[in-house]
Formats: sequence, structure tokens, C-alpha cells
Amino acid sequence: MTTCYVGIGSNVGDRAMFARRAVEELKQASGIELVSVSSIYETSPIGGPPQRSFVNLVVKLETELDPRQLLEATQAVETRLGREPSDIHWGPRVVDLDILTFGDEKVSEPDLEIPHPRMTQRRFVLVPLLEIEPDAADPWGTRYADLLDEAEGDVELLEKY
Ligand code: AMP
Repeated sequence: MTTCYVGIGSNVGDRAMFARRAVEELKQASGIELVSVSSIYETSPIGGPPQRSFVNLVVKLETELDPRQLLEATQAVETRLGREPSDIHWGPRVVDLDILTFGDEKVSEPDLEIPHPRMTQRRFVLVPLLEIEPDAADPWGTRYADLLDEAEGDVELLEKY
């Protein structure tokens, strides 16, 4: 079993409902055990066109899947919740699941990069991640808490999960 963290975001429709449904879908996915869920945060969009604010949360999982199987599982959740393949890059989306870390593994492939390359620049990832794992560190030993000051975006607690 590998411990991993997945970030979930939504900025369309009932955003918190989509985020909660994504968590429920992951809970039911085979080969995945949900360990903990952060609070739900309201966050400012970073990159992409002008758009509504997001809700974001982070879940901690144990999985027997490999990284690519986990990517397929997270993409299946996005599809089931109605994400269109044509969604604008970094634009509005009903739900977005990003694999943040996968144990201490590093993956560098055209369609899969782990740790997620932009996670350390985004407060909407770091704040919920640090809520559930204050001592989290990347595979090279850097503590995410030490990167928070450099990260961008506004993050406000919206509701407990
Ligand atoms: P986005 O529109 O930001 O959700 O990007 C989706 C694309 O990012 C997918 O086609 C994935 O193949 C790719 N991708 C690369 N690394 C990751 C990762 N760590 N987690 C999720 N998607 C990833």
C-alpha cells in the first residue's frame, strides 16, 4: 500500500457538492482506501481566464494501485461527475482531481508528473494538505510548510468536511 495525496477542486455549479461527491467516489473506488479529508476551502483562481472562485480540498489515501492506475481512477471520477474533455485548460471545471504525491515516488512522463509540478506554488493545495499532514515533505525532504510563504493565491476556510 502506498500513501498518497490527491487535490480536488471545483468552480462550477454547487462547487462544494461536486467536491464532496468526488470524495465519495474515491471512497468507493476499488484499490483505494480513504484515510482523511481536509476541510473545504474557497480559493482564488490562479492562471486561466477570469473565472469564479474555486473550492478545494485534499484527501489522504492508501492505495494498492500504481500511479498510472490511480490517474485512471481519478480521471474516471472526473468523467462520472460530468467533466467535459473540452474544458478550457486551467478554465472552469465541475471537478478536477490532481495526484499531488505518491509515496516517495517520482514520475516524469508527458501525461503524468508526480509530485504535481505546480503544487508547491499553490496555497489552495498546500493549506489543505498541511491541515491534514502538518509535517508532509516532498520526496527530496523539503517540508511543504516551508514553501507556504512563497506560494500564491487566497485561501479561506469555507466549511468542515
Ligand atoms: P488539468 O486540466 O490541470 O486537470 O490537467 C489534466 C492533465 O494533466 C491530464 O491529462 C493528466 O494526464 C495530466 N497530469 C499530469 N500530471 C498529473 C497529476 N499528477 N495528476 C493529475 N493529472 C496529471
